[in-house]
Amino acid sequence: MCGVVGIVRQKGNVAPDLYVGTIKLQHRAHDMAGIATSDGERTYLERGMGEVAVAFSKDKLLRMKGSVGIGHVRWTTVGDVNIENAHPIAGIFQTKQCPKGKKFYIGHNGQIAQDELKKKFPHYKSDVTTDTKFIAALIATSDKETFEDALQYACSILKGTYSLVVLYDDAVYAVRDTTGNRPLVLGKNGGALMVASESVAFNPLGGHCVDEVHPGEMVKITRDPFDFQRIPIKTVPDEMPRRLTFCLFEMIYLLHPASIFFGRTVQMVRERMGVQLYKEHPLDADVVIGVPDSGLAAARGYGRASGIPKETGIIRSHYSGRVFIDAVADRAEKHRIKHDVIGQVIADKRVVVIDDSIVEGLTSIKIVKLLRENGAKEVYLLASSPPPITPCHYGVPTALSQRRLIAADHSGNVEAIRKEIGADYLGYLSIEGTIRAIVDTPPCIPDYPQISEKDFCMACFNGKYTIPF
Ligand code: SF4
Ligand code: MG
Repeated sequence: MCGVVGIVRQKGNVAPDLYVGTIKLQHRAHDMAGIATSDGERTYLERGMGEVAVAFSKDKLLRMKGSVGIGHVRWTTVGDVNIENAHPIAGIFQTKQCPKGKKFYIGHNGQIAQDELKKKFPHYKSDVTTDTKFIAALIATSDKETFEDALQYACSILKGTYSLVVLYDDAVYAVRDTTGNRPLVLGKNGGALMVASESVAFNPLGGHCVDEVHPGEMVKITRDPFDFQRIPIKTVPDEMPRRLTFCLFEMIYLLHPASIFFGRTVQMVRERMGVQLYKEHPLDADVVIGVPDSGLAAARGYGRASGIPKETGIIRSHYSGRVFIDAVADRAEKHRIKHDVIGQVIADKRVVVIDDSIVEGLTSIKIVKLLRENGAKEVYLLASSPPPITPCHYGVPTALSQRRLIAADHSGNVEAIRKEIGADYLGYLSIEGTIRAIVDTPPCIPDYPQISEKDFCMACFNGKYTIPF
């Protein structure tokens, strides 16, 4: 999974803005980061391993000139974790008029079906370990005379999911596949036009969300004219559905709570999921707590709906760096470092503990154990989403095929999962309830068009894969 951002400033260097934008998308990915800028004459590229603050130095950023650029944070779903695979991925676009060619850069969120592309570009087989290099290859070999046509050509071949930011010349192109599986939104402030995976990236730049990039749309963002130019994607492969199939897991977990999507603030959607959770699992208990950070919103909603006091029972350490954590052999230790239970809040009580999701089940097992060790009388575990039963093939590593899915291991048998986790009660929010919560959340953008369950991908929850992979 990745985060993308693109910014076109009227004047001044854009690199510092891109730095801020990528930091705001850090929750989406932290393997590596990259920024590319253009001053119209030359392009600049910086990429680094790790989190944004580590990947770039101030010196690096100050060397980057130009008012137009893109940024990317990467969590590896396809390919190796090495700097070669960090985005933006570069390519050269040649035309008859400019046979020497001009550099372009791509930042990608999503996952491309590779089998046919590997046949088309056999020489790429050995060195391509990120699917995005195929997109660059399609553009570079398109023999089109304009960059826009080359992008259209790539879209006519690509299968899978993609939200792209592409830098070429002094324009940024934002491209979203016809399923809109991955998010991509447009924003602006007084002096810049922006695109990003999430609207939260606009906040520190004084920007606000103006619209989504619609599924099957490419938006060209330029300084002159200083505007968004919306261009429909003309042709896509027959297998690519031409209708919105947005990742349900984005609403459950991936999106930042302060982001706005489907015209709704994500935090409010997740609180609503907690309200819905109480309708489906009305438990009698003494206290409701959430697993930080992603279970807190639903816990608030559950507490409100049930009248059971919602308390802070678990505190998350913000200093448990990943590298340090990964070096700890015993994964039980990881949770002891990450989570502190406030014993006074839960001792001798029947505790409802809510997490956003239960994927591998490891967190749940440890949390239940910690709560018991701290004196909880009974532990009722609820997930404010349905159980993931199959892997994601569209770019979300939460359910990677090589990962264990606890619900799949027990063929979805909730009682068997409960026993393994060790809770006194286990309940999930239904698929219908999850959608209901999203639809029922009042939009913060007036007159936002109606949404329904047809607008979502739920493949990892129901096994129905409608997008090719
Ligand atoms: Fe999202 Fe699951 Fe669909 Fe993947 S399979 S896009 S995680 S809903
Ligand atoms: Mg969590």
